[in-house]
Order: sequence, then structure tokens, then C-alpha cells
Amino acid sequence: SLSSNSDTAEFCPGFKDVDAFVKRGLGGVVAATKASGLLPQAGDEFDFYRSFPGFQDFCAVQGERLLHCMSQLMQHHGCRSFMKDRSKLTGLEERFDLVIESNDVILEKVGIMLDEASGVTRSQPVMPAGYQPPRIVVSSWNRKGNDHSGETFHLLHAKNIQRPQLKFKEKVDNSNTPFVAKIFVKPNAIKPLPSYFTNKKLQKERPEDLDVPPALADFIHQLRTQEHMDDMFSHPYQYELEHLVMPEILRSRPDPQLYKPLAETSCTFIETLEDLVALNEKLAKTTEFAVDLEHHSYRSFLGITCLMQISTREEDFIIDTLELRSEMYILNESFTDPTIVKVFHGADSDIEWLQKDFGVYVVNMFDTHHAARSLNLGRNSLDHLLKLYCSVDSNKRYQLADWRIRPLPEEMLKYAQADTHYLLYVYDRVRADLFDAANGQSNLIQVVWSKSKDLCLKKYVKPIFTEESYMELHRKQKKSFNSQQLVAFRLLFSWRDKLAREEDESTGYVLPNHMMMKIAEELPKEPQGIIACCNPTPPLVRQQINELHQLIKQAREIPLLKVSEIYVLHNVTLLTLLQSESTLFGPHDTSHVSESDLMELSLQGSDNHNVPRVILLFLLKEDEGVGNSGHLTVAQQKACSILESFENPFRMYLPSKDIHISKNAKYDPSTKIYEISNRWKLQSIEKQQKEAQAKQEAKKQAKKAKEELKKAKQSYQESLQNVSTVRQQLMVNGLNKRSTYTFQTPPSAAFTPFDYNQSNFKVFAGMITSFCCVCLRSDESMVYPEIRFRYFCKVGEFIEHQFNMIILHMFCMCVRDGSVFLMFTLFFRGKIQGLHSV
Ligand code: AMP
Ligand code: MN
Ligand code: ZN
Repeated sequence: SLSSNSDTAEFCPGFKDVDAFVKRGLGGVVAATKASGLLPQAGDEFDFYRSFPGFQDFCAVQGERLLHCMSQLMQHHGCRSFMKDRSKLTGLEERFDLVIESNDVILEKVGIMLDEASGVTRSQPVMPAGYQPPRIVVSSWNRKGNDHSGETFHLLHAKNIQRPQLKFKEKVDNSNTPFVAKIFVKPNAIKPLPSYFTNKKLQKERPEDLDVPPALADFIHQLRTQEHMDDMFSHPYQYELEHLVMPEILRSRPDPQLYKPLAETSCTFIETLEDLVALNEKLAKTTEFAVDLEHHSYRSFLGITCLMQISTREEDFIIDTLELRSEMYILNESFTDPTIVKVFHGADSDIEWLQKDFGVYVVNMFDTHHAARSLNLGRNSLDHLLKLYCSVDSNKRYQLADWRIRPLPEEMLKYAQADTHYLLYVYDRVRADLFDAANGQSNLIQVVWSKSKDLCLKKYVKPIFTEESYMELHRKQKKSFNSQQLVAFRLLFSWRDKLAREEDESTGYVLPNHMMMKIAEELPKEPQGIIACCNPTPPLVRQQINELHQLIKQAREIPLLKVSEIYVLHNVTLLTLLQSESTLFGPHDTSHVSESDLMELSLQGSDNHNVPRVILLFLLKEDEGVGNSGHLTVAQQKACSILESFENPFRMYLPSKDIHISKNAKYDPSTKIYEISNRWKLQSIEKQQKEAQAKQEAKKQAKKAKEELKKAKQSYQESLQNVSTVRQQLMVNGLNKRSTYTFQTPPSAAFTPFDYNQSNFKVFAGMITSFCCVCLRSDESMVYPEIRFRYFCKVGEFIEHQFNMIILHMFCMCVRDGSVFLMFTLFFRGKIQGLHSV
């Protein structure tokens, strides 16, 4: 459909139409690919050639040329290229990242242009399924379908495919909780399946059953299932796999059994349970069969396995795993049978996908990819093995096709069939070669078999969002961001993660990395500016443009600081930020601070009184600042337990570990809610009585503490009026002699204590999306003598979200009855709003 319809003008100099141009281009690419395939491979051959200076020089010159060429292409598309900032980029990995990034951009452009060429405007609504014939959705390098001149060729935009998720019997669990094995029967078990999996009641207690905010629900679920934790997260077939011995059949050199010609082999498409059961019966009678999967990951958060191909010596099968997703588990009978060898090629992902989507495990597997590696074949791809052993010129053109489409076009079915059709023969051949390579011994086979077994032991791990995730990506991107950019990046990252989970889309679909970086970098003032950063604009970005605009606005409101260094030490993340005088205290529009106002970071320089203030952003180690509980005062111990509660703010609603809870109550969700809302009243009567006593005592103490707090606040206010610097104020309190940081101006706004009684921790439940806690560096309390203070990112997280404020300075104090007080300086819209307590 792209062909030029003008017969007169040339499409471009030297080419009469697009086809001619494409033909030439494709020819070039194919020739280049072939040539690169002929180069000596890493390993012996390459090292040998490397020893010749002539070869080295040749490589260096050609390498330069290629890099230059690629750089030009990247620059042409407005991408970052490695020639430009060459000095900074040294590693192959960084360069590779740049190539990937550029590929993203270019492929997205191609997708859009193809859309346009085929008359699909981007604002066009999605057609209901069945409204139009399904279209072939394949990669751009695929040939056009024979006669279907009207077909469009989307690269990744498969808009007209009905989402298979809608038909899944079991809804996809994108929640931010670890993956739990999907297994409830365990065929071929030596060790029985743990009760957690066989007890339906236990499993049903999922967070969504609880009428509580999601964050709390997740936590409750975690706690509730704690005793089953080990079982839940262990590999159901670990025992069987670890006790597996290599089958006798693998110990001798095989006589390769030639595959049946592809054309003469029946290929059964399986989409009903009956057929699947019949297949399972058939497989159970074999001694080996070959398996492959096709997977889709663009329009789903966790990805979807769309197809399973199975080949026996006689027949090929293709299972529609979208249709039979919930029934696939029955194949465990043959897949975990230790007497049947399952042959895969490159099973790393397959093993995970089988667990993730079907709860299927593999016991006794042979990976021909590992065999190829052990044979030092140079290239280990299936294409290569097929060429080598079967003289079949396969081509992986449908590898990245959208495998969700139904009915599957004939061409794609054939492609899928070929993926396993020859595999058993390849299995024979590599085994024979492995024997020959080991002088007739089975030790190489043993190595491959053992590596394959290790693969089977792999557990699927769900992507989990933590406050660290964005930093991980940020570090990879190798950009140095200032404080506003970093906050924007963090906000965008968590927005994207949340939306991707909710909408069940990949993060790449919601907002590709390079676009996210661009928005964070440019901090557009207007929604239109955000759109301009994203070409083409992802649908969800367009839809949520106001939300995104708010996030960027929020980021622009924080003080502009240059983040010169990010220290990551174990679980301590320390951002050291430096800021010019005017930005911290007093009214100030942060967006007007110029780069030159920013000073270079210096951890030591802060000793100098004239040096502008230093603000540190901390995520402190849990055990820091409080010390060993062995020699702590009572107050300190209480502080400790409160600190612990900040690991998870809901801990205070949960029973201490030693409290006995009746077994029945534990498994009843409604009772659970009751327990939580009533602070786990399901304690023994004895306990309750004790508690009542303690409460009275506590009340008395609370009263006393309240008075003391009032006094403290008063004296603090007084001190505010008398001292001119925060440092002096600290001196007045005589508590901060160790502080090496200086603060010269007092907060300009008057201090108005917040009415503590109005606050309630529960209001924060479920509001966690983000936090920003910028703390003044200090080691001691400024206000209250017996109080230690710490920086709480987790708490900041809630409060910021709730009030849309950035907490500048926050610490916790513990008063004798164990109640929690938070004091913090609120920084809102660029102004200090005063010191508050909650
Ligand atoms: P295969 O084992 O080659 O049939 O590939 C199985 C699945 O892996 C495909 O359906 C794709 O989803 C995925 N896949 C394979 N190769 C790539 C690749 N180069 N990039 C991304 N995904 C891939
Ligand atoms: Mn595969
Ligand atoms: Zn495949």
C-alpha cells in the first residue's frame, strides 16, 4: 500500500518507486547481515585472527566507519548518538543502550507513518472486534501478504486486536505483590504440594477480598500468608528437580532419526479442552517431544503467552493458549514426567512464561541452545542449527509479530510449526556431536542436561515497584538531573507504573523510556510541551495530559538544586543537594533560579558559614541513629518501635508477634477486617484486660506529654523570636554541637502549630504514591531534649501526597505513652509554611 501511485515522477533519485527503493535497501541489509555472519566469532577463532595486526587494523577502521555511520543515522533522527558525547560513553553497554533507544524512536516513527499511509488516523477510535476482518500484524521487515492489498502493516500498534485479557477466566494480577505459583495439583510429585496450594480457602484470601485501601490490603495479605511464605515462593518442583538423575537414554550416542518433511506432517491446531486432553494423553506415551512458545508483551503489563508449539516424532501441534490459558496446567502431567525429555531451544523465557501464565513446570528438559554453546558452534540460534543440520533456511521474520491475532494467518502458523518441527532431529544431532566431541563419553551431554535442569529451577519473578526502581532506571540513563528533573522523573515513573498495572499495558506502551526522560529533562510548562516531547504521543499520555501536567508542575515547585552526586551505599541513598541562599527560606519562585545560581556540591564545604545551605535528602539505614536496643533508654526503645512502625505505617494496627490468634479467625477475611479496624481485638481476654490497664496508664502519660509538648512548642516559638539563625537556635538549645552544617536565615513565616488532634494516620492509608523528604541535616533534636530524631521517607510519602507538600524537615518524637508526633517544616509552593506538628 506504500507503493507510489505516480507513474511520472521518480520516487527519489535513482528509484522509480518505493518498492525499488526498498528492494535495494533490503538487499544492502541482507548483504551486510550475511557479511557480519561470516566474521570470526568470539572464542578461539576470533582470538586467533586477533593475533594478526592486519586483522586488528581492519577491524578498527571498519568499526570506526560503522560507528560513524550509525551515529549519523541517530543524529538524523534526533536521537542521542555516541559520536556526540563520546568522551562520556565508553562501555559497549552504554552504546548498546543508545542503539536500543534510537531503534525505539525510529520504529515508532515507522509505525506512525505506516498508519498514516494506510489511512489510519491516530485519533480514530478502535473498531469493535469482529467489525472488520482481522489484519495481519507483523514486523516491518515482513513481506506483504499475497493479495491483500488493503491490509495495513502495524509494527507495534495493534489497535484492532481485541484484548485477549478480556476473555481470561482468571483475571491478571498486576498488583505490586510477589508472584505466587499458580499450581493446585502436582502430578509426578515425590514431595507433596504444600497445603497453601491445595487449600482453596487460603488462596482465596487475596487482598481484593478486603474492603480496605490497596496498600493496606497488600500488607495484610502479606502478613496473613506469612506462615505460608516459604511455600508460596518456593519452586513447586524444586525437590523433584534436585533429585533428578540424567535418564539412561541420554547416556549413549543416539542414531539421529530424520524429521518427517514439513509438508507431510499433520499440524493440529488445538483450541478446545478435549483436544488438549487428547494431546496430553499422546504426549504421556512419548519418550521425548519438542516445545516452543510465542509471547506478546507490548499490550499487557506482564506479557501474554499466545501460542504453544509441540512436536512429537510424528506430528506437530499448535495450542491456542489464549483460548486454553486456564486449562494448560493439565500438561504438567507430561511436562513434569521425569521419564519424558522435553526439548526446547533457548528456554530461559519459556520456563518463566509457563509458570507465569499456566502454572506449568518442566522436569527433565534438554536445551539445544546450551548444546550449541557447548559445541562451540559459533552461532547458537535456532536458525543456525536448522541451517547446519537440516539445510533449512528459516527466517525469524515473525519472531516479533503480534501473536495475539486470531485467526492466525496461514503464514504465521507455518512459521510457528517450523519452530518445533525440526527440533527433535536437532536434539539427536547435537547429542551425537556432543558424544563425538567428548570422545564417545557422555560428560558434555551431562553438562548440557545439567544446565537445562538449572533453567527449570528458575522461578518467575514479577516486576515489583519500589522507591528504588526509578533510581535504577535513572542510573542506567546516565543523565545528570537537577532536583526538579529528578523529582519529575520519579513522579513520571510511578505514574507510569501505576497506570501500566491498572490498564494492563506495558510500561513501554504507556510511556517509552526515552520520552519519559525527555519530559523530565525539559519540564514543559504547558501540557502542549509534554505532548511535544512525545512523538508519536502515546494514547494514555494524551488521555492523562492534565494529570501529567500537574506532576510536572509539582516538580517545578521544588527548590532547584543541582544533584551532583548520588551516593548509594547498601540501602542508604543519599542525595546531596546544594542550594543558593534565596531558594530555601522566604518566598521564592524556584523556576527563576538560573543554573549559574547553583553551586557545586561539596560535602565538606558546608562547614564554612558563608557557604549556602546544604540540604540532604536521606533514605537512612534502618539501624542508624537509634543504636543497639540493648543499651537504650526506655524512651529510645519506644522511639525504636515507632521507627519500626514507619517501615510500614500499618504495623501499628497489627498484633505484636507473640499474640495468639485463633486459627479460625485467621482464615476468615471478614474477621480480618474487624481485627484491623479494631487494632486486632482478637486477642485473648487476658491480653485485653492487661491492655485496658495499660491504656489508663497511657492516658495519664499522654496528658502529661501533651503538656510538655505544649511547653516545648512555646519555648521553641520564643526561641524563634530571639535567634537570628537556625544554627544559633540550635546552639541555644545546646544540642547540635556536632552539626557541621550552617543555616543562616530563620524561617520567615510565623510558626503556627498544627492542631494535632485533627490528624489521624488512617487517612493516609492507601494514598501512597510518592514521597519527597528533604531533610535538614542534624543529628539531634532541636526542640525536645529526650527526643532523637530521624528522617522518614515513608511518612513523607503519605503526607506529601495528602497535602501536596514537600516536607523539608521532619522528625519523629516519641512521648512516654508511645504516641507518635511528627514535626516537620512544610515547604509548599516554594515557601516555607512554618513548622508543624502532626
Ligand atoms: P522464539 O523462541 O524465537 O519463537 O521466540 C519466542 C518469543 O520470544 C517471541 O514470540 C517473542 O515474543 C519473543 N522474542 C524473541 N526474540 C525476540 C527479540 N529479539 N526481541 C523481543 N522479543 C523477542
Ligand atoms: Mn522459543
Ligand atoms: Zn518460536
